[in-house]
Amino acid sequence: MSYDNNNIFAKILRGEIPCNKAYEDDFALAFHDITPSAPVHVLVIPKGEYTSFDDFTASAPATTIHGFFAAVQKVAQKTGVDKTGYRIISNHGADASQSVPHFHVHVLGGKPMGHLLA
Ligand code: AMP
Repeated sequence: MSYDNNNIFAKILRGEIPCNKAYEDDFALAFHDITPSAPVHVLVIPKGEYTSFDDFTASAPATTIHGFFAAVQKVAQKTGVDKTGYRIISNHGADASQSVPHFHVHVLGGKPMGHLLA
């Protein structure tokens, strides 16, 4: 899949659409999901053009991958869910119902969430 510059997260990265920012550094931007599925529901996106987890891990340089996942952990710290527990989810492709074609990790927490998909 080629990268679509008009996807909504690309527009957020360019500042064309506002977001409720939770964290930002050189590798990632994190913002609160507009339709939260848990008391804490933050999306973490890399600043480069990657369509999904699959594309990111296959194509990005190691320093970029490391910086991105370090940012995910910082989001967990900043929101406090590192203390109580959290789940990270990344949907890739049709069977996972990925709806925005810019790689993102969901950080979910703030309540007991049960076991995986149950
Ligand atoms: P996915 O289905 O894994 O691709 O997740 C996309 C997520 O983006 C969904 O949870 C949406 O609620 C969320 N979302 C879509 N548009 C926005 C937006 N403008 N600001 C924040 N979250 C958004």
